Amino acid sequence: MKISGLPIVGYDECLMSWLVRSASVIGEENVLRFSESLEDPDFDLENRIVIDFLSRVGVRAESAKRCFGAQTNWLFPWENRAAYCLLCLQEDVASGRSPYWRKSWCYLHCPICVKHSALLVVADPNSIGLQKAWIVFVEECNGKYYRKTKCDLQWRQPDAPTKAVMLALRVQGFLTAAHKNSLIKLRGMDRPVRGADILAVAQLMFENFLFPRLRPPFGDGIARAMQSGSPRISGVRSIEHAKWLGCSDCNVYSRMTALILVGCVFKLFPMSRFIDVRMSLGLQSDVYSGDAFDIGRNGMKLSSRAEIGLAMGMLNGLPEGLKEYLENFINGLKRSRPGLLFC
Ligand SMILES: [Zn+2]
Repeated sequence: MKISGLPIVGYDECLMSWLVRSASVIGEENVLRFSESLEDPDFDLENRIVIDFLSRVGVRAESAKRCFGAQTNWLFPWENRAAYCLLCLQEDVASGRSPYWRKSWCYLHCPICVKHSALLVVADPNSIGLQKAWIVFVEECNGKYYRKTKCDLQWRQPDAPTKAVMLALRVQGFLTAAHKNSLIKLRGMDRPVRGADILAVAQLMFENFLFPRLRPPFGDGIARAMQSGSPRISGVRSIEHAKWLGCSDCNVYSRMTALILVGCVFKLFPMSRFIDVRMSLGLQSDVYSGDAFDIGRNGMKLSSRAEIGLAMGMLNGLPEGLKEYLENFINGLKRSRPGLLFC
């Protein structure tokens, strides 16, 4: 979007990223004032101070929502929006403008850059601030010239095989479509399915596959097998809080694994493609088959019979056609045993 006298808003750019890039025109004190008043610096488009500012530069509230609004409510909290695509930032700089932060990097189900088909990189959590696009870019440059500026915390993950990234990208596209469209066609089903129903099932799986790293052996969700070096989360107050924490962690390898498992349940690719990549996901033997029944029975981290009952209640409320489509997963979940997460 072009706004007179201000930097052009980049494709998929976050509001705070654009405000920071506009600082030389609108004044740093204004950028700080906006950041302090915004409940969410990237996506709070109800804030009166920002709406007034945008209307003064000729942007109406509806246009601002279209341009800066989130495409999902599956958002990381501001302080955890640390995953980025270096290739995108390099292209920004090569084209003669400041690097900027993309909205899609802030979404739980998008650990892969669609443009470059590459797994995002997770920045040093200490780098996260208003200027983060420049900071992570400069740190990457320093790294290349052996001028070490980063600390050695191991939040980074092993490199993912291209085949695994491509498989997860297929599922990421499926969930992105489910966010954007009210109806989705699933292969083998006569009638389209509501995007909201697909998201409800996918959310249940994300919350369980990405369960945070609590005490072994019951804590880690199955998608976290390749995560290493990160501290285990303490101070968890409830199952709901733990699920929220699990889905607030921007670790890209875990999210990639979770996507692939969601793809297995929704039958989004031939099983041979899963078999090609499963070694790289570090899966437990009881879900190694990739079979939806095994994933439902052994891959979910439901803590009690009551919690299984709640999940079953949601699944039983799905339209008949979708329930049939997910039959193996649902049957597996019925046979699952509650784990003792807070032992
Ligand atoms: Zn990219």
